[in-house]
Amino acid sequence: MDHKPLHPDTLAAQALGWIDETTRAVVPPIHASSTYLRDPDNQFRSGRAYMRADNPAFDQAQALIAALEGGTQAMLFASGMAAATAVFQSLAPGDHVLAPKVMYWSLRNWLLGFASHWGLQVELVDMGEPDALRAALQPGKTKLVWVETPANPLWTVTDIAATAQLAHAAGARLAVDSTTASPLLTRPLALGADLVMHSATKYLNGHSDLTAGVLVTRADDDAWRRLKSIRVDLGGTLGSFEAWLLTRGLRTLHLRVQRACESALAIAEYFEHHPLVEQVLYPGLAAFPGHEIAKRQMQGGFGGMLSIRVKANARGGEAAAVAAAAAVQLWKRATSLGGTESLIEHRASVEGAGSPVPPDLLRLSVGIEHAADLIADLEQALRRAHA
Ligand SMILES: *Cc1c(COP(=O)(O)O)cnc(C)c1O
Repeated sequence: MDHKPLHPDTLAAQALGWIDETTRAVVPPIHASSTYLRDPDNQFRSGRAYMRADNPAFDQAQALIAALEGGTQAMLFASGMAAATAVFQSLAPGDHVLAPKVMYWSLRNWLLGFASHWGLQVELVDMGEPDALRAALQPGKTKLVWVETPANPLWTVTDIAATAQLAHAAGARLAVDSTTASPLLTRPLALGADLVMHSATKYLNGHSDLTAGVLVTRADDDAWRRLKSIRVDLGGTLGSFEAWLLTRGLRTLHLRVQRACESALAIAEYFEHHPLVEQVLYPGLAAFPGHEIAKRQMQGGFGGMLSIRVKANARGGEAAAVAAAAAVQLWKRATSLGGTESLIEHRASVEGAGSPVPPDLLRLSVGIEHAADLIADLEQALRRAHA
């Protein structure tokens, strides 16, 4: 065999080609033990002592995700929120951090609530505007820039390479929530980011049947070691069965993401000039403000997430959007994203007071069904909302 680097599809399909050394099984066993035997002299030369600190069930998924991201190490958490909040809790009270104005809602709320009370100086900026970032950075005081790209639910694209340069010049680290891009479409570490975070609940697992999170680091440095001890001490540890399921889900990541990208583009193009649609937000459309950056930093597609702003009916834009979501038969009215089934959601009412999301917006997570069925269902739902 020659030693050309293997394609991500090949790495994913074989989950790095690992076999179980004891049984020669091509699928790993599920390790359920919460504790490990010590040697007679009370050492544990296996390197493993207790499940909250370490679990062989994590090894394969962590190695595969690190390989796909081009990172040094990856670390699984019990959820995307556990992974993301660990990054902020590895900072010190008084540190200044920058995050996007429009981003994943639960994390935004936690930053403005818990993290701010705890002492972080959280400032939200428009991450689609390099000038806004430049103005907000406080050299020496800003310790972290947090970016989500494309960002929920307007799919704002942030230029990772340019952001990394600005952040590093000010002495700050850059962390990227790359959940919606997946490691197949964007590799933030190669663009200069220090840390990548995924909600593995979404594309990485891909079957809407667990919650998990992951961090991937560029360097095995002090910051990474701090994050490792935070995972152990705060106890946001993934379970063995979830880690095993995640490894299974990862094996089809490339097929699922590729289909979702193709269908999302087809849906975006179909509804872009539709008489019952005000606007389609999708990084793959040439008219989308971040399209040029997306073309540069996303390979193989623009993701499976898009939003549709519904034209007002007699009762307004919000009523039309809610009525369209009520009228779908195939799409599932549910939160989350990145599963095999397509989901539709009226974000403004889900987020509630203070939400920056336009009230006529429907967020779509495109699954792996046939695109024509998805389009037909949306078409009839929009017609019924305007009937
Ligand atoms: C879902 C999600 C999260 C949070 O992940 P959980 O697994 O639900 O805790 C963070 N960021 C983005 C972009 C998400 O979609």
